[in-house]
Amino acid sequence: MVDQSASAPQLLLLATGGTIAGRAANSTSLNAYTAGTMAGSELLQELPQLQEVAQIQVEQLTNLDSADLQFQHWIQLVKRIREAFAQSPELEGVVITHGTNTLEETAWLLELLIDDPRPVVLVGAMRPATALSADGPLNLFQAVQVARSPQACGHGVLVVMDGKIHGARAVTKVATQGVGAFQSPDLGPLGWVDDSGVHLPVASGARSVPFATLVLPAQWPEVAILYGCVDPPLAMVSALFHAGVKGLVWTGTGAGQLSAGEREAIKAWPGVLPLMLRASRCGSGPVHSCALQDELGLLPAGTLSPQKARILLLLALIAGMERAELSDLLASMTMIEG
Ligand code: ASP
Repeated sequence: MVDQSASAPQLLLLATGGTIAGRAANSTSLNAYTAGTMAGSELLQELPQLQEVAQIQVEQLTNLDSADLQFQHWIQLVKRIREAFAQSPELEGVVITHGTNTLEETAWLLELLIDDPRPVVLVGAMRPATALSADGPLNLFQAVQVARSPQACGHGVLVVMDGKIHGARAVTKVATQGVGAFQSPDLGPLGWVDDSGVHLPVASGARSVPFATLVLPAQWPEVAILYGCVDPPLAMVSALFHAGVKGLVWTGTGAGQLSAGEREAIKAWPGVLPLMLRASRCGSGPVHSCALQDELGLLPAGTLSPQKARILLLLALIAGMERAELSDLLASMTMIEG
């Protein structure tokens, strides 16, 4: 626990690792470092400024590079947040420290599963904690500012990086380095945070949480992502079908286009096809329905990135949804998007 004044807002910090908790051999090493080496409690110790801002209870869920997270960590995270909100009316929000590489995936997963107006804020860093001009401390300070802000309530799961507040649905990592590596393509960030406070200009609206009551099993279905390109190796398609994947996200070219060869491979498969979504490799813009691919049973993923479409598909499969139900869910999500 950070030193506290009784009236300060109460927050839960769930630490999972990442570069924000990473250490290098020296302060000029920006790429050669080990992620997930500092405990969440150490990150807080290095930020005495937070003592005046909030009472923070720290829990270390794991301490990993986010490329190494597994479904079991997601299950733990979801369980802990649901429990904390259910059991602690005095809890005002949750902050999660996380590696940036898959941060948007965890944010989107939580957006689909956590039904509580209190803020859940994910934060990471592009530079290790030992770096000159490390971005982690300020990012964490600002994430706490957002998590304790009444303004942030009802906005869903948020990501705070480099002074920007992003929504879980749109946010994505767009650069391999540099502190401004996160963007929300098409929509832009929801707001920003600085020394004058939290600014979320658009009021929160109605939010639907499609899997709010979903109980997550220990074993998750296999859902793969295929990446479209010129003359794609079709052996990958049949390998996945043979492996019995339950879901498949096609990262099509342009607006989610599959090649003729890929369409033929789907038609030629004699067995049961997985539940399939079609996203785009473009990085922004929607994927709409299209007769050529609709007739093969592929559903358009709208503006969801392939990695976020995969998470929706995972949860839909866990919930036992059939194609028609998933199609309705996607349509309702598109309407919310405006
Ligand atoms: N390798 C890191 C991770 O855990 C990258 C980062 O956190 O920026 O995702």
